[in-house]
Amino acid sequence: MASLSNKRIDVTPPQVEPTDSGWYLASGPDLPLNPLYGNVTCECLVIGAGWMGLHAARRYAELNPQAQVLLVDAGRIGNNASGRCMGFAIDLAHNPRKRDFVEDLKGNQEELHVNLEGTNYLKSAVEAGVDCDWDPQGKYHSAATAAGVDDLVQFSKALDLMGQKYSWIEADGMRELTGSRHYIKALHHPGTVLIQPAKYLKNAARMLPKNVKVHENTIVRSARFGKPHHVFETQNGVIHAKKVIICASGYLNNFGFYKNSAIPVYTFASMTRVLTDKELAKCGEGPFGLIPANSFGTTVRRTNDNRLFFRNVYSYAKKYKTTVEDVAQASVHQQVSFERRYPELASMGFVSSWGGLLTLSQNGGMIWGELGENVYGTGICNGTGVSRGTGFGKALAELASGLNSTTIEILKRRKAPSRAYPEIITSLGVKYVTGRRFKEAGQEI
Ligand SMILES: Cc1cc2nc3c(=O)[nH]c(=O)nc-3n(C[C@H](O)[C@H](O)[C@H](O)COP(=O)(O)OP(=O)(O)OC[C@H]3O[C@@H](n4cnc5c(N)ncnc54)[C@H](O)[C@@H]3O)c2cc1C
Repeated sequence: MASLSNKRIDVTPPQVEPTDSGWYLASGPDLPLNPLYGNVTCECLVIGAGWMGLHAARRYAELNPQAQVLLVDAGRIGNNASGRCMGFAIDLAHNPRKRDFVEDLKGNQEELHVNLEGTNYLKSAVEAGVDCDWDPQGKYHSAATAAGVDDLVQFSKALDLMGQKYSWIEADGMRELTGSRHYIKALHHPGTVLIQPAKYLKNAARMLPKNVKVHENTIVRSARFGKPHHVFETQNGVIHAKKVIICASGYLNNFGFYKNSAIPVYTFASMTRVLTDKELAKCGEGPFGLIPANSFGTTVRRTNDNRLFFRNVYSYAKKYKTTVEDVAQASVHQQVSFERRYPELASMGFVSSWGGLLTLSQNGGMIWGELGENVYGTGICNGTGVSRGTGFGKALAELASGLNSTTIEILKRRKAPSRAYPEIITSLGVKYVTGRRFKEAGQEI
């Protein structure tokens, strides 16, 4: 735990995304916009309203019903990386190509524990009335090539070791499921839930406990950590908070913690308009979610509101920034994926394309825990963040409330992120690796 200097830290604000996400545009009415004005004091300030922050705020407020909790976000809830994702709430890490995936039984079991806690917390919100097209049908790890099938076999070995149930689907079955001839084999694992992420986040924000106040479009521009209150300046106000929980993803580095450890990577997605009944007849029997056998392949969903949705391309985002041109370039690759899978439909193109931030670290480490006296933070989720981020946020609020749990013990043992190599080296390295892996993925894209 770092000792706090009580010095003013200028916080670089997060980038404004060049395009809105299709999920956000299709997620119903916006929350009433209520940016922060003036001087306020609260017991607990939560910065960032993604999977981590929203659930940290909810949990802290549930455990401390007398406390005034403030949840602030620089942008609109649901239009952040969390709301831009593919909407797989995943119970198990799923990168079968990872070198130690099969051998790391303990790591995988711990991951499962944390993620299930996250999924169950999401589920409790849905049971309380949060509408998000909740669909617990699991995910299909899908292969279009022999190399992809090899990756799936490797993955199945890890599942065997963990005593996890799964089933194999052959090419005919995949055609029935998706309407596409593209896939030759798939492994279905039942533990994942498909959701509409922007819808979840907006509706869950509406249903936060009464002692949480939400301020969107409220950028924290400076921080001074100290006693009896930490002090944060926003564009139009000042917040005095006894405790702070920072859930600002890789931007946590900007608050002075684990400086230069976040590696900002973007991935991109494109979505069609709502399909007609005739078009839907070419896309299988109902909604589905496909994870590519090769992690550089294309993730595909047929959504509950009857659209097709493709995600691929990873790129280094210098200074965390992407441009309209980056989004347009990625959508060309998504169009290729569309044509490969649905040649008869692909000419309709997309109604929206967007990118979103993933933060990685050099050593796979992450930030979670007490960063200073009454300062808690989490970020750098190295990819999958829906269930995991929810679990991280919930557990962090419990830690900040003086509780303990198996998840807290697991997360306390996780390694911290190492400092990234200088930007020039990291950006070239990411560019080289993503370019090579994208090429190798071939027809999986
Ligand atoms: C296209 C795409 C597809 C993905 N698909 C999946 C998937 O299917 N399943 C899965 O598990 N994961 C997926 N991911 C990853 C997942 O979206 C991320 O892991 C997750 O969003 C991280 O959540 P978070 O709460 O840490 O961060 P974020 O969602 O980035 O939230 C951090 C928030 O902090 C706010 N913030 C930062 N600095 C400040 C400041 N100074 N003042 C105020 N607010 C600030 C930001 O505005 C932001 O809203 C995907 C990501 C992308 C981009």
